[in-house]
Amino acid sequence: MSDDLEPTTHTYFIRTFGCQMNVHDSERMAGLMAEAGYKAVDNPAHASVILVNTCTVRDKADQKALSDLGRLRQHKKENDGVILAVTGCMAEREQENLHRLMPEIDLIAGPSQVRNIVPMLKDVTPGKGVRLGKLYSLPEMTTPPAVRPEGVCALVTVQEGCDKSCAYCVVPRTRGPERSRPVSAIFEEVSGLVAAGYREVTLLGQNVNAFGKNSGHGDSFGDLLRALNGIDGLLRIRFTTSHPNDVDEGMIKAMAECPKVMPHLHLPIQSGSDAMLARMERGYTVAEYRMWITRLRAALPHVAVTTDLIVGFCGETARDFEETLSIVDECNFDGAFCFIYSPRPGTPAHKWEDIPPRELSVERFHRLDERLNALVLSKNQERVGKIEEVLVERYDSSQKRISGRSPQFRHIRAVIDDHSLSPSPGDLVSIKIETCTKAGLEGKIIEKSLLA
Ligand code: SF4
Repeated sequence: MSDDLEPTTHTYFIRTFGCQMNVHDSERMAGLMAEAGYKAVDNPAHASVILVNTCTVRDKADQKALSDLGRLRQHKKENDGVILAVTGCMAEREQENLHRLMPEIDLIAGPSQVRNIVPMLKDVTPGKGVRLGKLYSLPEMTTPPAVRPEGVCALVTVQEGCDKSCAYCVVPRTRGPERSRPVSAIFEEVSGLVAAGYREVTLLGQNVNAFGKNSGHGDSFGDLLRALNGIDGLLRIRFTTSHPNDVDEGMIKAMAECPKVMPHLHLPIQSGSDAMLARMERGYTVAEYRMWITRLRAALPHVAVTTDLIVGFCGETARDFEETLSIVDECNFDGAFCFIYSPRPGTPAHKWEDIPPRELSVERFHRLDERLNALVLSKNQERVGKIEEVLVERYDSSQKRISGRSPQFRHIRAVIDDHSLSPSPGDLVSIKIETCTKAGLEGKIIEKSLLA
């Protein structure tokens, strides 16, 4: 970091790693810092408080955060008054080790402590020992202020934590038990976002469709979708990440009957082999997963289904992998995130030794990736010549080009050649698709919807 820069008081900088939940946790911490009078800076060298919001879903995420912290601790050594804080899932999982490894860190607190960030920072005296924010004291599910990027799409966390225990996953140990916010608080927050110009919300949860379970307020996920569908001015509702065991008829009916709920479900299957699903302790079988997809497609024929897949998990045989390849074709996914299994300390599977050789997992990863890319490309090719309704998210005036998403979450771009149309972010437009790649579709704007 350039040394000619001095940290100025009451300024903060947040570096974020990981998933959308972490991105929104950082937006919330920024909201609380701003509310407490801190000013955001976009260079850590300018900040009196540096927050690193970490992820630990795979080893690579740990390494990225640790190398960033390595640079920041050097800066802190040269600037006594600076507070260096580490939050997020790696902070929760590695509190003591992090403190031993980097005694310069002043605050280490897990994701459950996001709402307490300001009082915890006030508790810190730079360089005078570490403040640990432990998982066990779960703050009330209030609605912290959030600093969101300008735009028409906003993230809204509705559920936190996870009660499941997948053998490879560290989340239950870093984010705690499942808990849901009251529908009334979410309704109020989303209404406020619409008033502020946002047109689409993505509802976030570790298991977002477990919303309402064990929360005592008795509202289900389907109830939440129906409530938000009633907000005037809101155009689109999306949600992620769902768990197959929390899919139910109420959710499917709400998706089918609420026009603002987009016909896209991200439903991680992880493997096409029952043996692997049992070993992963996912809690469902391929047949049960297939049943929910069939029910969903019966209710919503145009729904897009995307998923997550892990290869190279403990004990994975060639047959298990072939079953994963076939389930991709059989479920005809619209997209997927594929990962090679990464052992995580603190998880049941961490000590299991029957992990397939790395080179075999890499070879399987590439075969799966190829199969998925071919499937996604063929699906995009089917859209050529069709009309897609797109919520304009970006307008690039230099390129005279807009971009946004279809209801099925396909990424779509279009050049504006008829200036009478000239849409802006937040508008709904109809685009005739002319070309495609596996990454998305391209076309021509033919109409601007009067809806927006
Ligand atoms: S459902 Fe499984 S993979 Fe998802 S957060 Fe919970 S433990 Fe992790």
